Amino acid sequence: MKVLVAVKRVIDYNVKPRVKADGTGVDLANVKMSMNPFDEIAVEEAIRLKEKGAAEEIVAVSIGPAKAQETLRTALAMGADRAILIQTDDEVEPLAVAKLLKGVADEEQPGLVILGKQAIDDDSNQTGQMLAALLGWPQGTFASKVELAGDKVDVTREVDGGLETVRLNTPAVVTTDLRLNEPRYASLPNIMKAKSKPLATKAPADYGVDTSPRLTTLKVSEPPRRQAGVKVADVDELIGKLKNLGVVA
Ligand code: AMP
Repeated sequence: MKVLVAVKRVIDYNVKPRVKADGTGVDLANVKMSMNPFDEIAVEEAIRLKEKGAAEEIVAVSIGPAKAQETLRTALAMGADRAILIQTDDEVEPLAVAKLLKGVADEEQPGLVILGKQAIDDDSNQTGQMLAALLGWPQGTFASKVELAGDKVDVTREVDGGLETVRLNTPAVVTTDLRLNEPRYASLPNIMKAKSKPLATKAPADYGVDTSPRLTTLKVSEPPRRQAGVKVADVDELIGKLKNLGVVA
């Protein structure tokens, strides 16, 4: 079985985002960018399926600027076999990403497409669901366990208050949750090897997809600043303060 993995280049999760002065978005100038953490989990899961003999080939796909090649090289260094960059400098919304991934899935005919449950830059949590709908394939979202058995895949999902296991016919779409696995670091020899793995560059037009935006961001604002804390000498002073503030009666 072939596994397709979608990886997005996003602002690194350790970076504190700065909102642009005019409130139109997040300032990405000179900011460290990395693979979306949920997508690292998706790549790791595909590699584990290959290591178990359940998958033969892993194809990593990214939609983004030329620099998204770096993200794909990271996926290749972790263990993906080849990569496809659908290059565009436009900001591509989840629906267009899903349409492009459908184009790749139509061409590649994977048994499984693994995506992150959400990209940490737009927090949309839409692409996997829309891709499954466009393909007409079953979906297992928020996966914390994935087990392939013949032409079925069992996905344990993190739902409110517990876990739910669903059985999907393949081909299927799976989106990863945080507890699915711990992604490996690419070793130096594998980083070197990844440089010679195949990376194809395409354009949205190759898949006949119009990526023009359907949404307008009206405003982006920083969360309110946290007030500084106050030190109290003892429990009595704490209770006094809480009473004054009306937090306790
Ligand atoms: P979102 O729906 O934007 O929260 O993204 C969910 C998942 O879709 C991500 O974790 C990625 O696996 C995939 N995805 C979203 N945007 C892109 C992109 N530009 N390139 C590749 N994969 C993407």
